[in-house]
Amino acid sequence: MARYTGPVCRLCRAEQRKLYLKGDRCNSDKCPINKKKGAPGKDPKARITKRKEYGIQLREKQKLKRIYCMLEKQFRLFFHRATKMHGVTGDNLVVLLESRLDNVVYRMHFAASRNQARQIVLHGHIRVNGKKVNIPSYIVKPGDVVEVRERSKKLAIITDALGEIERSGTMPWINVDVDAVRGTFVSVPLRSEVTDLLDIKDQLIVELYSR
Ligand code: SF4
Repeated sequence: MARYTGPVCRLCRAEQRKLYLKGDRCNSDKCPINKKKGAPGKDPKARITKRKEYGIQLREKQKLKRIYCMLEKQFRLFFHRATKMHGVTGDNLVVLLESRLDNVVYRMHFAASRNQARQIVLHGHIRVNGKKVNIPSYIVKPGDVVEVRERSKKLAIITDALGEIERSGTMPWINVDVDAVRGTFVSVPLRSEVTDLLDIKDQLIVELYSR
């Protein structure tokens, strides 16, 4: 499956926001965003200049797409799907993205980053309701039980990531049984519950794709 393989911290610097693409490093002093470096290759003063409407919409889309580690084609497919659902398209888009299996694995702390979660899913370490699912974009439904397969439960990459759960907790729509390395996707989140993405203006993405 195609994915971005270049330097990821550069993406955060371009968006001037943490995108949490490197696991533990993102919460450490080593994160370049904590060091307040500007966007790569840009004069900081140039960033304050007024951006055109299209540019602002584009940046907002890039931010969300990069947070979920997606490429344009698949992101657009998710957007299209969101437009077919009842309710506000921007809200639907975030909710759909949150329901992706790789994201749910990340939110359950079975992986330190979404990129790592995608690899874990692709390598067949994950079961959904007892069945192997190795499709990162698989949509998890309310009540689904997501667990690491028995022989992968002691993998350092997974136990290390799970160690974070005490520090950062879980999102309100997710329950995790740490000992069983198993979690339940209790309900589809409300857009307002996805608190770490409240700064993303989904409406700008809707406007961009509606051009
Ligand atoms: Fe982004 Fe994480 Fe790199 Fe910080 S450490 S710039 S949050 S990927």
